Amino acid sequence: MPIDATLPYDDDNIFAKILRGEIPCSKVHEDEWAFAFHDINPQAPTHILVVPKGRYVSWDDFSARASDAEIAGFVRAVGRIARDHGLVEPGYRLLANIGGHGGQEVPHLHVHLFAGHPLGPMLT
Ligand code: IMP
Repeated sequence: MPIDATLPYDDDNIFAKILRGEIPCSKVHEDEWAFAFHDINPQAPTHILVVPKGRYVSWDDFSARASDAEIAGFVRAVGRIARDHGLVEPGYRLLANIGGHGGQEVPHLHVHLFAGHPLGPMLT
């Protein structure tokens, strides 16, 4: 069920629980600003979710409230994960769903990283 991205942060969301180590995940990266793990229902041969460590509901919340250091750290982490996995060539796709029309289901900002085969045209 898509979320309302204007709601306050919910500390019981599943990615908050993953960040706190309360439920397991297949971790691929962690640093001061970001945490990344394999999507439980992969939509491509490689499907990684990258989340900021901070409590942000969506890209909208993050871009409005996060510090420049948090934003830079998160963006650099996404790029580093792609490089570390050898994805820059042949390429990959980043996607962030925001709110109801964006189809966002988990109310903690996450960027989907898809790779591993030609991904075709963008979905609308
Ligand atoms: P959204 O639609 O952009 O919010 O995407 C949420 C994503 O989280 C989906 O691709 C789900 O498969 C994924 N997901 C949900 N629960 C878990 C989990 O416990 N571990 C890893 N991925 C999850």
